[in-house]
Amino acid sequence: MTDKFDVIVIGAGPAGYVAAIRCAQLGLKTACIEKWLSKEGKPALGGTCLNVGCIPSKALLESSHYYEMSGSALSEHGVQVENPKLDLKKMLARKDKVVKDLTGGIEQLFKANKISWLQGHGKLLPNKQVSVTGQNGKSETYSAENIIIATGSVPIEIPATPFTDDLIVDSSGALEFSEVPERLAVIGGGVIGLELGSVWRRLGSKVVVLEAMESFLVVADQQIARESLRIFNKQGLDIHLGTRVTGSSVKKGKIEIEYKDKDGLHKDSFDKLIVAVGRRANTDNISDDETGLLLDERGLIHVDEQCRTNLPGVYAIGDVVRGPMLAHKGSEEGMMVAELIAGENSNVNYETIPSVIYTHPEISWVGKTEEELKASAVEYNVGTFPFAACGRARATGETAGMVKILADKQTDRVLGVHIVGAHSSEIIAQAVIAMEFGASAEDLALTVFAHPTLSESVHEAALSVHGRVLHTVQKKR
Ligand code: FAD
Ligand code: NAD
Repeated sequence: MTDKFDVIVIGAGPAGYVAAIRCAQLGLKTACIEKWLSKEGKPALGGTCLNVGCIPSKALLESSHYYEMSGSALSEHGVQVENPKLDLKKMLARKDKVVKDLTGGIEQLFKANKISWLQGHGKLLPNKQVSVTGQNGKSETYSAENIIIATGSVPIEIPATPFTDDLIVDSSGALEFSEVPERLAVIGGGVIGLELGSVWRRLGSKVVVLEAMESFLVVADQQIARESLRIFNKQGLDIHLGTRVTGSSVKKGKIEIEYKDKDGLHKDSFDKLIVAVGRRANTDNISDDETGLLLDERGLIHVDEQCRTNLPGVYAIGDVVRGPMLAHKGSEEGMMVAELIAGENSNVNYETIPSVIYTHPEISWVGKTEEELKASAVEYNVGTFPFAACGRARATGETAGMVKILADKQTDRVLGVHIVGAHSSEIIAQAVIAMEFGASAEDLALTVFAHPTLSESVHEAALSVHGRVLHTVQKKR
């Protein structure tokens, strides 16, 4: 036994590193175990999100959007760019630099907060002890009053399309293609499929998305999902719903895929395949059998509302526990658990966690979908407003999409806000704040929004809840 801490966090993704920083801020002697190695083989903090998730994907989404804009979209503004050229190597290098700067920033924050970074694989042992096994295979044991497990998630692999080195890849591989694939298949029309499918479509790939479900984006409000599907189809994303991939083979550097849909069996050939069918909790070798750490039926660590596991003094947060696999959800849980350990009151409002899909336009939502309200028999009013009727959207040329607000019929309280539209990842924050403060649709309708802004569409949708929309003719539902 070498050292004793108040808190040991296993995993330094957005759940774990935030928990560690908050613990240290609250005066707790804190260590964080992290085993991640960068592409260059250097130890790195930040987890999936900073290294191969949120950040590099958004860097490529931004760069690829500029590339696409430099074609036809800019010419609509009277800006002619002759033969825009893609420097993919530079684009990828920029993405890598963004990642390096941010992960380096977390390292600085650890130093500034005097958090001990224990490099290696952490494993929970009985009696609040943790072993750390370094790259050299040597293990050390540490103990702590409190342990926070934040080991995140990993991509799901399916038997029909086992990963290869560089042809059949997960989301991490899809951030690294050294050439734009001519024909790219994506299995899974969820968040990763749409975001990374969009990146490579913008850069020139012919992208085919094979989605198992009959409906598009089942987790989203279906009116917004249908509108989004229409927009993506128009952009050239070839999305096939109700498909099942039954097998694949690699021949002469190409991937042959067999899949079934309502019309029968199909075969197609692609240059690359991204498998994006979801992620699973990473509980691989994280706990000694003797600890008795309880997992639920889906393999997630079982926790209560405040992220306590079945073991006293052991908490679990982020992707490794129930709830949406989102960075900001994990970070909020990290702050909550740190504050609970320090003896403060804290909680996470799971009802107001926003979701965003960073396509163009972006899809963003918070709260209940219309389908969920129907299923729960809550009576509601609906207000909608199309961006095509918004002055600012006209000025920027980003008129696709709409805002939809669902409000309780009896109390008028906002129950859900759903947007497909440019920059909606920023606009949705207003809806989150409104819902956090228990606002009614009328509260939003009485609020003054600056003109001209895309956010005025939220105002108009709120007016529309009570049939008072100004800049379009209210449609009867
Ligand atoms: P992780 O970020 O997975 O971190 C877990 C860490 O624990 C890792 O660093 C791992 O090395 C370490 N670890 C695991 N086991 C051990 C062990 N035994 N010992 C030591 N260390 C260990 N979410 C969003 O909110 N917005 C987005 O835009 C977004 N984009 C994404 C894009 C992609 C391509 C992907 C794949 C994911 C994206 N996500 C996004 C999801 C987001 O990355 C995750 O929800 C988030 O990273 C989860 O945080 P976490 O801290 O729970 O786990
Ligand atoms: P997802 O759950 O969003 O989408 C997976 C899709 O694959 C679903 O539509 C599902 O129906 C489909 N699918 C499952 N099995 C299939 C099969 N055998 N054949 C065809 N389709 C199949 O998962 P993801 O896109 O892999 O993303 C993983 C997680 O990462 C998500 O939970 C998400 O929250 C997180 N993430 C978030 C963001 C963001 O916040 N912008 C971005 C990327 C990833």
